[in-house]
Amino acid sequence: MSDKTLFQKIIDREIPAGIEFEDDQCIVIQDINPQAPTHLLVIPKQVIARVGEAAPEDAALLGHLLLVARDMAKKMGLEEGFRIIINNGPHGGETVPHLHVHVLGGRAMLWPPG
Ligand code: 5GP
Repeated sequence: MSDKTLFQKIIDREIPAGIEFEDDQCIVIQDINPQAPTHLLVIPKQVIARVGEAAPEDAALLGHLLLVARDMAKKMGLEEGFRIIINNGPHGGETVPHLHVHVLGGRAMLWPPG
């Protein structure tokens, strides 16, 4: 049985996804169950389960993910604003144990989030 995470299988093209961007450090895909008109996931190729388990040496990668998220928001035309979310653990709403940054936009977001 494969020990790969769902997102590793997408990175390795074993599972199809709407790929919006890719570089040597990350891939950006369309969320399969979008919660806004634009809902992207920025996923590092290096497997970090969740931000709570990131190490100090992951700082540059974490920063890169945020800058890619920012660039994707611009590319998708989210001039009115966007939201970046990282869910962590059961109470954070995490369902896939491979770090990913949600980028949501295209509608006004609510605050506080549910
Ligand atoms: P989490 O709940 O862990 O923060 O986010 C996981 C996200 O992955 C969810 O928004 C969910 O809709 C998305 N997702 C789950 N399975 C798939 C899949 O097979 N393909 C894609 N593109 N997204 C997925």
